[in-house]
Amino acid sequence: MSILIIGGGIAGITAAIYLGEQGHKVTLIERGEIMGGRLNNLFSVYGLDISPKDFMCEQVSKLKEFSNVDIFTCAELIETKGHVGNFNSKLKINNSKLREVKHGAVIIATGIDVSAPKIDCNSQKIINHTRLEDYIANNKIRRLSKVIFLCDFDKEDSQIIALSTLKNALLLREKLRCEVSVLSRNIKVAGKNFEQLYTAAREKGVVFSTVDGIAVKDLLLKCDWLIIGENILPSQGTEELSVILGVERDKQGFFQNNNVHFMPNLSNRKGIFFAGACHIDAGLNDILDDSLTAAYAAHNLVAKSAIEIGEKTAEVDEEKCALCLTCLRSCPHKAIDIEFSRELGKKAAKIIEEACFGCGICTSLCSSSAIELREYEDEKILKLIR
Ligand SMILES: Cc1cc2nc3c(=O)[nH]c(=O)nc-3n(C[C@H](O)[C@H](O)[C@H](O)COP(=O)(O)OP(=O)(O)OC[C@H]3O[C@@H](n4cnc5c(N)ncnc54)[C@H](O)[C@@H]3O)c2cc1C
Ligand code: SF4
Ligand code: SF4
Repeated sequence: MSILIIGGGIAGITAAIYLGEQGHKVTLIERGEIMGGRLNNLFSVYGLDISPKDFMCEQVSKLKEFSNVDIFTCAELIETKGHVGNFNSKLKINNSKLREVKHGAVIIATGIDVSAPKIDCNSQKIINHTRLEDYIANNKIRRLSKVIFLCDFDKEDSQIIALSTLKNALLLREKLRCEVSVLSRNIKVAGKNFEQLYTAAREKGVVFSTVDGIAVKDLLLKCDWLIIGENILPSQGTEELSVILGVERDKQGFFQNNNVHFMPNLSNRKGIFFAGACHIDAGLNDILDDSLTAAYAAHNLVAKSAIEIGEKTAEVDEEKCALCLTCLRSCPHKAIDIEFSRELGKKAAKIIEEACFGCGICTSLCSSSAIELREYEDEKILKLIR
C-alpha cells in the first residue's frame, strides 16, 4: 500500500523521507513550483546551525535519492474516493495532466499562509516579519538605532510569530548592536527551545515589557522600525481540501485533530493524518517531531498486510433500512456508504468496517433501528440491565 503526501514543505518532506526509508511507495505533491514551503523565506532558525535554505536543499536531495518516492510539483489533489487502505485519488499536474493514484493512507502537510494585520496608519517604518526576514537575508539593513517589536497587535500572536520575534530581536541586537524592545500583552514561550531563546535574548540586552493598548503613532515616534507580526492563516485551499478528503477543520479553519485524548496527528477519518503547521502552531523543532509522528502512524497502518477492523464496528440490517440517509449524513468518520443489495433488490446503508470508529452515533440516530454496534446489540444491553 502506498501513501499520498500533500504539501512539499518541511513537514511533508520529513514524513516522505521516513516513509521512503521504510521502503514504502510514496507520492508527494507540491502545489508550488519549488519544494520547501515557508522555510525557504527564512534567514535563520534558532537551534539550526545551517541556513534554512541549505537545510531544505539537503532534505530535498536526500528525498530525491529514493526511487520509491515520486515527487510532483505544480500538482494538486482534485478528487479522492474510497477509504483507509483503499483510496483512489485524481491529481492535476501542471494544470492539465490528470494522474490517478491508489494509496492506503494520506498525510496532509499543507502548512500556513500569512496576512498583514490591519493598521490605521501608513508608514515606511512599519515592517512585517516576512519583509524583515528578506531585509536580513539580503543584507538590506543599513543603520538602525532603535527597533520595537510589537506583539499581540490585533489579537494574541501565534507561537510562530512569537518565535520569529524572539529570534529576530536577538539577531538584530547581536548584529547591529541597536536598542531592541519587545512589547507584548503575553508572550508565549511554550515550544521546544523557546525558553532558552527567550533567556538568550534577555541576556543579550533585548528589553521585554508588558503593554496593553499602545497607539502605533506614538510608538513610531520612538523608533526607526516598528515590527508587527502577521496573522497566521490556514493555507489557501484548506477548505476545498477538507471537502475533497472529508476531514474536519477547527473554528479558525485549520485542520482539526480527531480527539485531544488520541494521538494528535489523527484526523476524523482513519488513514488520513496531519503533519506540520497545517494543524499545529509551532516552529521547526516541533514540526520535525510532529511530521515523524504522522509518518510513524502511516507506516504502522500500511506495513500490515491488511487493515485491522475494530471489534466494535456498526452493522446495518439492510432489510430494516428505510434509506433515510440520516446515518450517512451523521457519521463523523465517513464510514457509511449506500449500496445496492441484490438479495433484497433495493439500496441500503452499508458500514465500511475498516473506517468505522465504533462511536455509535449512527445507531442512536437511526429511526428504523436498523443499525447496531457489535458487542453492544440491543438484546445484550437489555439483558444486562434487566
Ligand atoms: C513570518 C514567519 C516567520 C517564521 N519564523 C520562524 C522561525 O524563526 N523559526 C521557526 O522554527 N519557524 C518559523 N516560522 C514557521 C515555519 O515557517 C513553519 O513552522 C514551517 O515552515 C512549517 O512547515 P510546513 O511544512 O508544515 O508548512 P509550509 O512551510 O507552509 O509548507 C507547506 C507546503 O504545502 C504546499 N501546499 C499547500 N497547500 C497545498 C495543496 N493543496 N496541495 C499541494 N501542496 C500544497 C505549500 O505550497 C507549501 O510548500 C515562521 C513562519 C513565518 C510565516
Ligand atoms: S439511518 Fe437507518 S434507515 Fe436511515 S439510511 Fe441509515 S440505516 Fe437506513
Ligand atoms: S459507529 Fe456509525 S457513526 Fe460511528 S464511525 Fe461507525 S459507522 Fe460512523
